Amino acid sequence: MLIGVPKELQAGENRAPLVPFHVKKLVQLGAEVHVESGVGAGSGFSDEEYEAAGASVVVFRDNLLAHSDIILRLRKPPIYEIGDLKPGSIHVSYLDPFNENELLEELKRATITSISMEMIPRTTRAQKMDALSSQANLAGYITVILAAEKLPRILPMMMTPAGTIKPANVFVIGVGVAGLQAIATAKRLGAKVTAFDTRSECAEQVKSLGSKFLEIDLGTTGQTKDGYAVELSPEQIEIQRQAQKDQIAKSDVVITTAQVFGRKPPVLVTRDMIAEMQPGSVIVDMAAETGGNVEGSVPGETVEVDGVTIVGDGNWSNFVARDASQMYSSNLFNLLEEFWDKEKKEFVLNLEDEILKGCVITHDGKTVNERIK
Ligand code: NAD
Repeated sequence: MLIGVPKELQAGENRAPLVPFHVKKLVQLGAEVHVESGVGAGSGFSDEEYEAAGASVVVFRDNLLAHSDIILRLRKPPIYEIGDLKPGSIHVSYLDPFNENELLEELKRATITSISMEMIPRTTRAQKMDALSSQANLAGYITVILAAEKLPRILPMMMTPAGTIKPANVFVIGVGVAGLQAIATAKRLGAKVTAFDTRSECAEQVKSLGSKFLEIDLGTTGQTKDGYAVELSPEQIEIQRQAQKDQIAKSDVVITTAQVFGRKPPVLVTRDMIAEMQPGSVIVDMAAETGGNVEGSVPGETVEVDGVTIVGDGNWSNFVARDASQMYSSNLFNLLEEFWDKEKKEFVLNLEDEILKGCVITHDGKTVNERIK
């Protein structure tokens, strides 16, 4: 079975879908692995390392796409490359399937079996394949590092002969995978951390990290069976905004990670709240690229509003591309290994399996995924 790994096309994308460590493991399973020359350049893996792990390094991308039985990549494929893929082959990547109708049509036309990494179910068995979580974890870490770098203050308390400096106040909104890692990172750096999430079970988690949970009575809130937040009503959002106002005003750093799966993220930090913050304070809007939790954040940029720095860079795990590649690659390997027939030395597409039912989007010219249908 030929597994092909093309180079990522997006400018500035430094992550690689597969690292040499997992090439070796796939070769041990009996796969033939071809990678496009330079695939690991952005994350510090040379062609020689891929070769030493057992891959063939190829220069002709078209050939790689046309002959691979399985293509592994990170970002969704460009529509113009779908026609180049081998009919009936498997394509694994992020796909953004709720928003990419045209892409799905093209995948169907080309009879590609597409697997969406966003749609890996959130079950214990699938955790090791969950790329949203692995990348969100790193994202949470990096939001704090970026904030610390931009803040004209230090995060920890310092008692010195030159005086005592109080710890910085960090407020984290949204305590999922990224938010928890942001809290842990800010705590490790010595900040005083407060956090809020609409899912009540987060309170315990926040406290277990030695941080304060901001209590806000929003009435009925909840979560789906997959652990995602249920969308708030406009009235509940307004209550939340008012209740967070004071906390935001006294925070040196605000990190927003609030998301509602398949929906636009809620706007939780408004211009009037930003105006109340001390000049030099920093807001990191982790949702900037998908609509934003913060009024005035700009996707892909760092801007200043009323003296407050708002970081909206996005693609957060790309800041630590080596570890991000290692983790994503591990997610992909775990997915392939789970469905690998060790005798026949091939990936078995068992569409009755709960994991594949959740993440296979198109197959045999049709949309087979129940949620996307
Ligand atoms: P996410 O990225 O969808 O959202 C981030 C956070 O924003 C969530 O905690 C959500 O509750 C919160 N949020 C939404 N609206 C908000 C608002 N108005 N104000 C404040 N916060 C708001 O979520 P996620 O990080 O992917 O994870 C959510 C949960 O699912 C976590 O408890 C996580 O541990 C769990 N999870 C389980 C698995 C698994 O079992 N395999 C995998 C991944 C995540």
